[in-house]
Amino acid sequence: MSDLRCPRCHYDLAWVPGQWTSSCPLRGTCTECGLEFEWALLHSPALAAPEWFVEHPVRQPRFGFVRTLARLVLPWRFWRQVPMDVPLDVKRLFTFVVMILVTMHALKVAERVITHVVWDTFFNSGVPNSWTSVPWWMEREIVLRYAFYPYDVFMYVDPDERSVGAIVDVFVRLGFLVIGGMLVVTPMSFLLLSTSLRRAKVHARHLWRAAAYAVTWVALWGMIGLGVTLVALVNLRMSYWITDAFYRSISVIMVSAAAIWFLFFWAGACRSFDIDHPKSVAFGMLAIGGLTGLVASVAYAGLLNGLFFM
Ligand SMILES: [Zn+2]
Repeated sequence: MSDLRCPRCHYDLAWVPGQWTSSCPLRGTCTECGLEFEWALLHSPALAAPEWFVEHPVRQPRFGFVRTLARLVLPWRFWRQVPMDVPLDVKRLFTFVVMILVTMHALKVAERVITHVVWDTFFNSGVPNSWTSVPWWMEREIVLRYAFYPYDVFMYVDPDERSVGAIVDVFVRLGFLVIGGMLVVTPMSFLLLSTSLRRAKVHARHLWRAAAYAVTWVALWGMIGLGVTLVALVNLRMSYWITDAFYRSISVIMVSAAAIWFLFFWAGACRSFDIDHPKSVAFGMLAIGGLTGLVASVAYAGLLNGLFFM
């Protein structure tokens, strides 16, 4: 038998069944936070967990990682299927996050290698310079760089250029910083700043879970990047593929898609916490995370470039 705790605030409710005299109620109300719950799910939380879920309390689902990742593409639906009644499994949650990071890295390496091979084949064949005279995979430096650090996501921005493209580049950079803030700072702002969460006495374990599944976005980011590369390769519209305009439009789409994904993710999570105004709370906390990321990075960049000393 699992220990009987409130699904939301984790308050110990094991004493309650001892008070039952004439009947066993199906539903109960937490005396601490006021959450209504089903006693059956408290006794056997496996009943509340979907069979594909990596944190399933009793079984180890087949391809649980892939199936959970697939559900997270639509985060609003994911949170509908993963209620608070499913207990947190720290070990499996941690494994999930590590696997997400490994997946993202592998996807990025693949993207860079494919891009490099295509570039090498179509544009530098026959050019007698040092890095085309030997195949790229023979050059240790390039291989090491791609294997360990394939993340050249930012384009060079020329500070003297005043074209529309240059302005878009700046906004894309800032957009990525906003997304970074949403990823890192938003879970903390929920913990420290959300009065709705505190009023509802939502236990921190639910935030840990949400913060962990929010990392999924980086794997989706890697998939979109590789997908775009493959599509460009199949179409072989090389003249378009290599233009800055193409990279700019992809970057704008990636940043916007990430912001929308985070909004649905946290709104779904807040709804599953059963708190008041879940959508507004999610929006507010994402705004705090995004702005913090932006301000911190702009300040850092300003310090680096000596902007503040001019
Ligand atoms: Zn409670």
